[in-house]
Amino acid sequence: MATDTPAPTGIGVLRRDFRTDPFFDGAAADRLVIRRCADCDLWLAPDATCCPGCGSEEPGWADAAGDATLVTWTVVHGRPAEDGTVPPPAVLALVELTEGPWLHTRLVGVERAALREGLPLTAVFEHPGEGESYLLFRPA
Ligand SMILES: [Zn+2]
Repeated sequence: MATDTPAPTGIGVLRRDFRTDPFFDGAAADRLVIRRCADCDLWLAPDATCCPGCGSEEPGWADAAGDATLVTWTVVHGRPAEDGTVPPPAVLALVELTEGPWLHTRLVGVERAALREGLPLTAVFEHPGEGESYLLFRPA
């Protein structure tokens, strides 16, 4: 789902490398793909390199539902541009997926007054003209 939200600056959730290709390929197709250990059925963050449940060094991948709740957040104010325009503040958040893993992400479409712990969220994907698609969350 494309929106007019400006690209985040300096808050990259993940950098694509061979270990995170499934996450980015999923994001490009509007799917939230995270790690899931096939051996012990534990869901893990996309950048997990081994399973804390059983020690597997090759946890697999699976589609998460894309539902989460807000754990904590920070409102970051951008610096004014040279022409004096001030970018809208960004809401950086830590969210807990219903599957369990926590993700650092950015919220869109939420009023600051509505921010609260436990706020239900749903994943949305941004597809910039250049670069990787990325994950954002908005109120469910
Ligand atoms: Zn495991």
